[in-house]
Amino acid sequence: MMKIYGLLGKSISYSLSPAMHNAAFRAYGMDAQYRIFDTEESGVPSFFSDLRKGAISGCNVTIPYKEKTLAFLDECESLAKDIGAVNTLAVKNSKLHGYNTDFSGFVETLKGKEAGDLNFDPKGESVFVFGAGGAAKAVIFALMSLRAKRVLITDIDNEKAENLAASIASKYRGDSLISVVEEESKFEELISNSDLVVNATPCGVKKDDAPLFDYRYIHEGLSVMDLIYAAETPLVREAKERGLKAINGVNMLLYQAAASFKMWTDKNAPLEVMRKALLENIKK
Ligand code: NAP
Repeated sequence: MMKIYGLLGKSISYSLSPAMHNAAFRAYGMDAQYRIFDTEESGVPSFFSDLRKGAISGCNVTIPYKEKTLAFLDECESLAKDIGAVNTLAVKNSKLHGYNTDFSGFVETLKGKEAGDLNFDPKGESVFVFGAGGAAKAVIFALMSLRAKRVLITDIDNEKAENLAASIASKYRGDSLISVVEEESKFEELISNSDLVVNATPCGVKKDDAPLFDYRYIHEGLSVMDLIYAAETPLVREAKERGLKAINGVNMLLYQAAASFKMWTDKNAPLEVMRKALLENIKK
């Protein structure tokens, strides 16, 4: 019988996950399909009960349900609990298990040396993160786990940034410092003293998005990682034009999908097949 996998979220028809996973299933000749489950909040409980009944063998979770999903799980890996967000679900013996593969996807891309990776070791470095949403949670937890010296967060919604910092600080055991930057007037000094800027906001997707910060603050010795994967953002372009290390979110998206695939099928993901499908669909 065909196995069904998919992505739970809201207004997610743009997702590139079906292209990647369906290409991987085809490469293995598997009778499986990855679908979009575009679901209103009221439909989420019945979606999870269908999962438990086995109608769906596993799924990814995205905006706006990465945090809310935790409450529906029977088992959750401690990493995802600490991060406070889940992006992968597996069904085992009618029980829902939750994981976070954004974490490993981010770490692999950050430290990796393959094309499209950043080749950056955050140990002892200062990092400035824009965004305090679902993706930022995994990113910040990863940076602190990798012993960044200092992680600064800013978000349009300052309360969200404060809550995220407090939640991570309560779970994290280590030496990294985390603090929230509320005033834009501090960006110049703080970015000038940072080694890495991470964009974990959607800002830069649309052509007319205002820059996250004044690009004059980009300095020699700064690296840039933008989680946006749909295109090369102005931030990444600016940094590259200055000869700096700068990447978008393509590899992170690919690596988190590969980790989910492995979890569901117990097979190594055909990474290059998935990358090809991803890049072809980005171009469309
Ligand atoms: P999210 O939960 O909506 O979080 C984004 C946060 O950024 C929100 O709190 C938002 O505030 C804030 N924000 C928006 N514009 C801002 C600005 N100019 N300055 C500061 N904060 C700003 O979204 P997400 O799931 O974390 O995703 C964020 C981005 O990462 C998206 O572009 C997504 O596609 C990308 N992403 C990529 C990967 C990958 O694998 N490459 C994985 C996950 C996410 P408001 O809510 O008030 O607007």
